[in-house]
Amino acid sequence: MKEFQIEFNKLFSGLYRRCRFKGCIFPDKSTCSSKKIKAHSIQKSKILSHIADRGMVISGDIQKTIFTREFEQIGIRTASTFFGFCNHHDTVIFSEIENKDYIANQEQNFLYAYRACALEYGKKKEACCFYKASLNKFKNTPNELFFKSMLNGAILGLGDLSEAIDLFSNELIRPKSNRNFNTVNIKIYKLSYESLIAVNAFFIFHMIFKKIN
Ligand SMILES: [Zn+2]
Repeated sequence: MKEFQIEFNKLFSGLYRRCRFKGCIFPDKSTCSSKKIKAHSIQKSKILSHIADRGMVISGDIQKTIFTREFEQIGIRTASTFFGFCNHHDTVIFSEIENKDYIANQEQNFLYAYRACALEYGKKKEACCFYKASLNKFKNTPNELFFKSMLNGAILGLGDLSEAIDLFSNELIRPKSNRNFNTVNIKIYKLSYESLIAVNAFFIFHMIFKKIN
């Protein structure tokens, strides 16, 4: 197992760069700026700087630490960043949450949900690319089945995420005054204390159980 881990880690670092998603997820690409930026999925000025110690935070990126499970100390400039939007759309779309205080209105909550969904969508795109390349590499080896099942899982996940992204895109493509932010149901759980952990995550419930009387 150890040899496989070493080989996998080596392969991973090369493929990680090759498979990095660097597109703009916003639906109307005709208004994209050419500059692709590394956007923060967790706000740097309002959240990361608040929990940082001398500009550093502890990060646990599962994609980088799939086997080691170790946390690493990183600067807040790079923490939680991803390539998911061009400079123009990142600035324009998220201005309500980036430039204004959080007042928990429906538009802000919609945008927080959209950014979490976009982050996960990009990660699933990367995962599909990564497992596809890995499957080629490990074809006709005992690990082929592992990568096959991981690829199938990533493809299914990408399908789910694409549907979720469309729900947001259908509103964001409209002029701002015509957007219906109530297409997303929001539940807010407020902690009674200040948390020093910041997370931005999106996941899909695969099964919904209906209560039968
Ligand atoms: Zn764009």
